[in-house]
Amino acid sequence: MGFIPVNEPLLNGNEKKYLCECIDSGWISSEGPFVKEFEKKMSAVVDRKYGIAVSNGTAALEVAVQALGIGEGDEVIMPTFTIISCAMAVTKTGATPVLVDSDRFTWNMNVDEIEAKITSRTKAIMVVHLYGLPVDMDKVLELAEKYHLKVIEDAAEMHGQTYKGRMCGSFGDISTFSFYPNKHITTGEGGMIVTDDEELAEKCRMYRNLCFQKDVRYVHNEIGDNYRFTNLQAAVGLAQLERLDEFVAKKREIGAYYTSHLRELEGLILPVEETDSAKNIYWVYAIVLGENIKLSNREMTKRLGERGIGTRTFFWCMHEQPVYQKMGLFQGEHYKNAEYLARKGFYIPSGLALTREQMDVVVEELTAIVKGQ
Ligand SMILES: *Cc1c(COP(=O)(O)O)cnc(C)c1O
Repeated sequence: MGFIPVNEPLLNGNEKKYLCECIDSGWISSEGPFVKEFEKKMSAVVDRKYGIAVSNGTAALEVAVQALGIGEGDEVIMPTFTIISCAMAVTKTGATPVLVDSDRFTWNMNVDEIEAKITSRTKAIMVVHLYGLPVDMDKVLELAEKYHLKVIEDAAEMHGQTYKGRMCGSFGDISTFSFYPNKHITTGEGGMIVTDDEELAEKCRMYRNLCFQKDVRYVHNEIGDNYRFTNLQAAVGLAQLERLDEFVAKKREIGAYYTSHLRELEGLILPVEETDSAKNIYWVYAIVLGENIKLSNREMTKRLGERGIGTRTFFWCMHEQPVYQKMGLFQGEHYKNAEYLARKGFYIPSGLALTREQMDVVVEELTAIVKGQ
């Protein structure tokens, strides 16, 4: 068998058909009709009134933070263990991320640590649902109400997931998605902001498009970006969205298959299958090496790579990022669980195009490494 990539998307629905419609009609830019249709359908799927499609999930976070008016002197509470997009969206505005550690079991931010981090400068809580299970939203929403904080929900890995029966992407003031090829639905690159607040939605549209004014074109009152989303991306997105339920089911199948074949292997901490608020949707199939395994995640991913298996290590903590250390942020801070995950966590091939045969090879090679170490 050839190399097994860490992720391969499935594009065998109506993607080609809708893309051909773009080309035949000449509508390829952000002005094309699929963009609005995709915004409407995606926001409806996650129970939001407005959707604003942007060029990627990072841009979605940046625009969301900007639209909430967060800036210099403000603090935003977020997990240290997350993708840097979350922190960058905050630091770019001049605001400061304030970090919390991870929960040992779900790997999401430990919501019990949030309250102690709230100060008079705190403006928002940024929740990030990681790897397939949602953050404990009840607690976050309760704190947000008590202290009058905004909630930004990064649902980049959560298309189709629910928390206590409510759609992820529907919580707090504003939520964001990514459509990178390793997400449950993809547009190559792409992202979306969703909200129920009309005014926020209007601001997002403005920041997405260079802060053009509606009536007087080329006269600008604020700084924005060109984060527009193209009709070509929307064409792919619409075709992908048609299959969201199927894709989530397939991811759960992949998760269940790996778990049933790796469960007996000693030393691996496998993803939690279910909490009292959700069933895992396995954004990717993530594994943490137990205390008795000497290998680091970097060594493990290297060894798997040598055996023809594509993997990735977990995110690296925000408080350990050289760029933030250089900026004088997070000096002397430590977060035990997050640091452990960043050193011991990795994920194995789990894209939607993955086959049973490929999974069997992954299990076999991983088992051999763990037993032989
Ligand atoms: C993928 C991802 C992003 C960033 O999305 P891009 O489209 O790659 O910019 C943000 N947050 C989380 C949690 C992600 O997994």
